Amino acid sequence: MRLSQKLFVTLRDDPADAEIPSHKLLLRAGYIRRIGSGVYAYLPLMWRVLQKVSQIVREEMNATGAEECLLPQLQPAELWQESGRWDTYTKAEGIMFSLVDRREQQLGLGPTHEEVITTIARDMIRSYRQLPLHLYQMQTKFRDEIRPRFGLMRGREFIMKDGYSFHADEESLKKTYQDMYTAYSNMLRRCGLAFRAVEADSGAIGGSGSTEFMVLADAGEDEVLYTQDGKYAANVEKAVSLPPDAEVSPFTTFEKRETPGTDTIEKLCNFLKCSPTQVVKNVLYQTVYDNGLTVLVVVNIRGDQEVNEVKLQNELTKLAGQFGAKTILSLSVPTSEVIAGWATKSLPLGYIAPDINDDYIAESKQVNGKFIRLVDKTVFELKNFVTGANERGFHVVGANWGEQFKLPELVIDIRKAKVGDRSLHDSSQTLETARGIEAGHIFQLGTKYSQAMGATYTNEQGEEKPLVMGCYGVGVSRLAQSAVEQSYDKDGIIWPVAIAPYHAIVTIPNIKDAQQIEVAEKLYTELNKAGVETLLDDRDERAGVKFKDADLIGIPFRIVTGRAINNGKVEVVKRANHETQEIAITEVVNIIKQWVKEATES
Ligand code: ATP
Ligand code: MG
Repeated sequence: MRLSQKLFVTLRDDPADAEIPSHKLLLRAGYIRRIGSGVYAYLPLMWRVLQKVSQIVREEMNATGAEECLLPQLQPAELWQESGRWDTYTKAEGIMFSLVDRREQQLGLGPTHEEVITTIARDMIRSYRQLPLHLYQMQTKFRDEIRPRFGLMRGREFIMKDGYSFHADEESLKKTYQDMYTAYSNMLRRCGLAFRAVEADSGAIGGSGSTEFMVLADAGEDEVLYTQDGKYAANVEKAVSLPPDAEVSPFTTFEKRETPGTDTIEKLCNFLKCSPTQVVKNVLYQTVYDNGLTVLVVVNIRGDQEVNEVKLQNELTKLAGQFGAKTILSLSVPTSEVIAGWATKSLPLGYIAPDINDDYIAESKQVNGKFIRLVDKTVFELKNFVTGANERGFHVVGANWGEQFKLPELVIDIRKAKVGDRSLHDSSQTLETARGIEAGHIFQLGTKYSQAMGATYTNEQGEEKPLVMGCYGVGVSRLAQSAVEQSYDKDGIIWPVAIAPYHAIVTIPNIKDAQQIEVAEKLYTELNKAGVETLLDDRDERAGVKFKDADLIGIPFRIVTGRAINNGKVEVVKRANHETQEIAITEVVNIIKQWVKEATES
């Protein structure tokens, strides 16, 4: 491609609305153009990158025996009503764009395709002989994200590869899941990315069956906790660890103490001269279930620890059935105004005890009359602890479970693991932290959708069973941008060769020099013929401008037909390190062809 014929516009300055380097660079270098909030045009250079990423993804998927298809983006509401997700997706999380057609039928724009694929499986899979089966597609997804940002990283319209597998049993699912783990690792490696596979939250449907593939970058929205020995890595949402040991309590007898002005753990510990590890902290939450019922929650956790709200949300979702609900709509720490909406009397906030009485709640149709009480492991082990006295300005010390406080029925891990904690698999390993961009997520779904939608098959014994499912997603457009986030310098983008829009650029420093043009034209043709995807900068611009642009757009190899051509040579510059060398015109095609081959070999 000749730059003189290309839509090629680069910006000198950083665009005002871009925050992270990759977003700025893709805008400046003319790869993308913002059309609306979270909506971008992929310009020709970007489209080439996306196609390269897609091709790598496709090759790795096909190698596992999965088959490509294309599913509709317009999805009838009934399918989502059958799975039970219509309300959560259109109202609660509100992530799905929905519309009504001229026949007054409701439709959603596909944010994901479990419902569509499960309908197909329900209609077409009859027997165990058809299993296992894995279909995937690459297509635009629509999500009305609350905070679209960082360009392609979190768009409202973006490209995803999503695949869905169907199995007769868990064992078969696990095998495909393992194959996907390998395929995803291959994809990211071949795209030239540094990444980490981490244990991920699977929501309330649980199981250990979910892995995220994180591209490591400081601007990543996710935090990853991992150990040096390489044996443990998890998203902080999911991570588990051993907390620091609690100090021995200085209080040996149970007593109520006046502790004025100690409504925070810090003030309390200063006042009582004790460690936060001896305090049972009682955190109040409020959740609304999908049937509209508000339920108040008291979480007991050690004073030095924090609640992991993803774990909390999963626990509360598990309890939904008890309240005649399916899922939760929201979870928050209630403000005093919100509390005033359901409290019968003023709550002793900052002085609450684990046994705070249910009579604080004004029971109604909308509000459950009892607290859900959840006890974190860290407090269950405490002896002679300090906690609130349910009275403003008072705490109790020297308390014990099974004495002053009823032994809890449900002890769970609801704590946020943090950097420096000891690892469960080996307590000599401590957790380290890194930031990551979630590029892919593989997931063992089990029978959630097949059961809800009645997708069954007949097994060898002639019995009808629900299909066991897995799903696997790669954010193709997010992945492409994350490559830039991981690889750039002050001059611009440094694409990994495997996904660069072009491998090489031939730059003519002086467009008035016929000999320079002749050599450049010849190399341009020969390089392309040899399979080296090459641009020709034949614009009537100063050499300095051309070099700057070539650096900005990040093409791996630059060939300059400057003064050296008089000695039968061209100057070749590697973008990654600006390493420059003169190479004979007769050899340069073969040498660059070889470099590209080495850099893209899988
Ligand atoms: P996130 O937690 O970042 O919102 P998700 O859990 O919603 O991601 P999935 O539903 O598992 O993501 O989608 C599969 C992949 O699609 C993700 O791993 C990510 O790479 C990509 N993806 C998800 N949402 C977006 C978005 N708004 N913009 C671009 N890519 C996205
Ligand atoms: Mg999301």
